[in-house]
Amino acid sequence: EEWKDRGAAVSLRKEVDADGRTVIKSVKKGVRDFSFGRVLGEGSYSTVYLATDRQTLREYAVKVLEKKHIIKEKKIKYVNIEKNTLNRLTEHPGIVRLYYTFQDEASLYYVLDLCNGGELLGVLKKTGTFDVECTRFYGAQILDSIEYMHSRGVIHRDLKPENVLLDDQMHVKITDFGTAKLLPDPRDLRQTLDAGQNGTQDEKRNASFVGTAEYVSPELLTDKSAGKPSDLWAFGCIIFQLLVGRPPFKGATEYLTFQKIVNLEYEFPAGFPPAARDLVERCLVLDPSRRLTVEHIKNHEFFDGHIFGKELWRIKAPRLR
Ligand code: ATP
Repeated sequence: EEWKDRGAAVSLRKEVDADGRTVIKSVKKGVRDFSFGRVLGEGSYSTVYLATDRQTLREYAVKVLEKKHIIKEKKIKYVNIEKNTLNRLTEHPGIVRLYYTFQDEASLYYVLDLCNGGELLGVLKKTGTFDVECTRFYGAQILDSIEYMHSRGVIHRDLKPENVLLDDQMHVKITDFGTAKLLPDPRDLRQTLDAGQNGTQDEKRNASFVGTAEYVSPELLTDKSAGKPSDLWAFGCIIFQLLVGRPPFKGATEYLTFQKIVNLEYEFPAGFPPAARDLVERCLVLDPSRRLTVEHIKNHEFFDGHIFGKELWRIKAPRLR
């Protein structure tokens, strides 16, 4: 019952019926509809394969999760959050899209957008640092994606260069929504009214520590609350990291990293571009209510003249430098 599959895993298929007439049938996709290829990567609870839809020959990344392992490790909740979140975020080019979900006795399968370009972290490690043009482009695509997920009531809570995948055009696709927080979908009035009765207790109960030490926001460490501004703290960390090659807060242990975060202890290396410095300083503000919002960031001098919205996803990615 826990694995109840409500995903719209159907496709339309032409078939010939008993009377020789061609009929269009809606068929649920299953494991047999895909031919599995090489392993693209492994996570703690999953293996991701390259797979081809036998009918359309379209390639996907299929994430396979072993049920036994998830139950043993008590991760059912995260698996469901990931699926529910991805099912809410289907209309934006900057978010990895979930096309189908299905299961067999042993495993759950998520059919996802294939991201051939790997992780932004991997690309950054190869070049060491990004120049301002690349940082602006990737920063803009990440910000546009954050704006979309926030508009759908999703807080990612674990944004970092490892969770920013790249497609074959080297465009951004954000992934890893297993620790996301789902707010009532702003488009669903009824849900919004229901949630109004819960108040902040619920908010706090939901905000247990999730994420990665280096990018975690101070409010999550001090009062266990995470909201939209927490993703923009992580955004500030990412902009810094793209330009410098390492995140702003990094201690020898998680504890020391947390200390640095809550004391806002970080430094800009010499030569850090002034407009980027101003942007990062206004994102890395301890008080979440005084941090820049998505709208502010789009209008910040660092992104001066940069394209956002639909057009942003039509422009060619800059050569990495
Ligand atoms: P963990 O669960 O340990 O945090 P993870 O979140 O990276 O790891 P997965 O999301 O299962 O785990 O991904 C495992 C690996 O597969 C990733 O490191 C990534 O390189 C690769 N991968 C994940 N999704 C895709 C995709 N859509 N396209 C291409 N490769 C992918």
